[in-house]
Amino acid sequence: MEGKKILLVEDEVKLARFVELELKYEGYEVTVCHDGREGMNRIMDEEFDMILLDLMLPGLTGIEICRRVRKFSRVPIIILTAKDEVMDKVAGLDSGADDYLTKPFAIEELLARMRVAFKHSEGLTAKKTILRVQSMEINTEKRMVTVGGKVVDLTKKEYELLCYLVQNKNIVLTREQILNEVWGYSYMGETNVVDVYIRYLRAKIDEAFGEKFIHTIRGVGYYVKEE
Ligand code: CA
Repeated sequence: MEGKKILLVEDEVKLARFVELELKYEGYEVTVCHDGREGMNRIMDEEFDMILLDLMLPGLTGIEICRRVRKFSRVPIIILTAKDEVMDKVAGLDSGADDYLTKPFAIEELLARMRVAFKHSEGLTAKKTILRVQSMEINTEKRMVTVGGKVVDLTKKEYELLCYLVQNKNIVLTREQILNEVWGYSYMGETNVVDVYIRYLRAKIDEAFGEKFIHTIRGVGYYVKEE
């Protein structure tokens, strides 16, 4: 567990502080957010090895965070619920969380659950880490994209967009679908951000390697084609 990066999203400041100190003592690197939206922003900006998620949060609920994260990541998520949030607990597992723990909990219990979730996720990623289309290969564990064995340098958003296209290869995705999946429902910017990022990807992949991956259906959207 040396150096594993944990994000703790918990608005009960005292509890968050306690868990943070205990996890640090165990050798984890811990980032704490007290607000759901801030937590989601951190997840979009940084790589974490695990997310510990309270359900009732200001800004954005734990369920919503979980649902959004699962669209682009299999990072282990453990939900921390209060006793009276049983229905939320079910919803949390439905939305893709790996485990839940009822508050108050013993720190040893949390540490044990974390070890189980890590082991489980290592098993999963070992199975399904490589996505392939033609000469392109995406290693989702290393977050590395290669074309013909050469590494392609992508930003986080470019990578997420490419993964979404490749996971749905041969399916035409509308701009709205892409925007919702990759940028999130709350995205308030211009819808042409999709076109802009498709251009970036084409420049870095299709044009750089002289092989066509990303296809346009005019007036509808985009897809990655497996010949
Ligand atoms: Ca709370």
